[in-house]
Amino acid sequence: MTDEKAALLGPAEIRDLADLLDLTPTKKLGQNFVIDGNSVRRIVRIAGVQPGETVVEIGPGLGSLTLGIVEIGAEVIAIEIDKRLAEQLPHTVGMLQPDARLTVVRDDALRIMSLPGAPTRLVANLPYNVSVPVLLHFLEHFWSIQSGVVMVQAEVGHRIAADPGSKVYGSPSVKAAWYGTWRTAGQVSRQVFWPVPNVDSVLVAFERSTTSLASEELRLATFELVDAAFQQRRKMLRQSLSSVFGSSATAAEVITAAGQDPTARGEALTVHDFLAIAKVATRVE
Ligand code: SAM
Repeated sequence: MTDEKAALLGPAEIRDLADLLDLTPTKKLGQNFVIDGNSVRRIVRIAGVQPGETVVEIGPGLGSLTLGIVEIGAEVIAIEIDKRLAEQLPHTVGMLQPDARLTVVRDDALRIMSLPGAPTRLVANLPYNVSVPVLLHFLEHFWSIQSGVVMVQAEVGHRIAADPGSKVYGSPSVKAAWYGTWRTAGQVSRQVFWPVPNVDSVLVAFERSTTSLASEELRLATFELVDAAFQQRRKMLRQSLSSVFGSSATAAEVITAAGQDPTARGEALTVHDFLAIAKVATRVE
């Protein structure tokens, strides 16, 4: 059944397209396609997509979400790794929404270093096995992106949006916070996907913040500290960061000079706290 309001994909269209392409969705590429137009419109609404803006979509698949974005009048740059899907997408979108503005790039979203445009928003149902590295890659390399909404595995979404002190706060939370502020923005039923995944999904929304404008040297230094702190998350910072500073005594000195408590654990620190330590460390070195 075609969605009655406009041309989105329902279960029958998804099945027909999969038959046409002789496509068996693979777990390796995280291929779970949305088959429900209402869910698509909800995601596009939460993302706040505006007519005339450029949106980048990672992993458009058969085009479920793409059609919901172009329906608003936004232009889409879609990055898809699967050749059959990348080749079919312009035909699907052109048939259902002939006025749509779409550029499809067949590439690995983990490696892509340039885009044919400057998207201001990122909207995606991400391939779950690479969702965090793909997100960080895009925020690191494509500075035009100011905000976005992504659908990810629930566990990962809660981790990305976690605050210090939370049980699930970890390296992905701090690294994501480097680039902006994050919040979970709703759950998504397993039943809206084909095939039905064996994990729950959530929407996560972000707004870019100015921390990401600090230098690359500081970002690398901060991320090194974050990795070290969470590799040994039960240890005090002066111990967990001793691998970075050579000894726990030097680590304690630097941490104290940055106004932080060397006996605290990494899970208590915000990205700004880690950045403060990195600033002292890069001056010291
Ligand atoms: N957006 C579609 C939807 O909502 O129905 C499909 C989402 S599906 C969860 C993830 C999509 O990402 C698949 O189309 C898959 O082929 C693609 N994909 C997986 N790994 C990728 C990568 N490294 N770079 C680009 N696309 C990738």
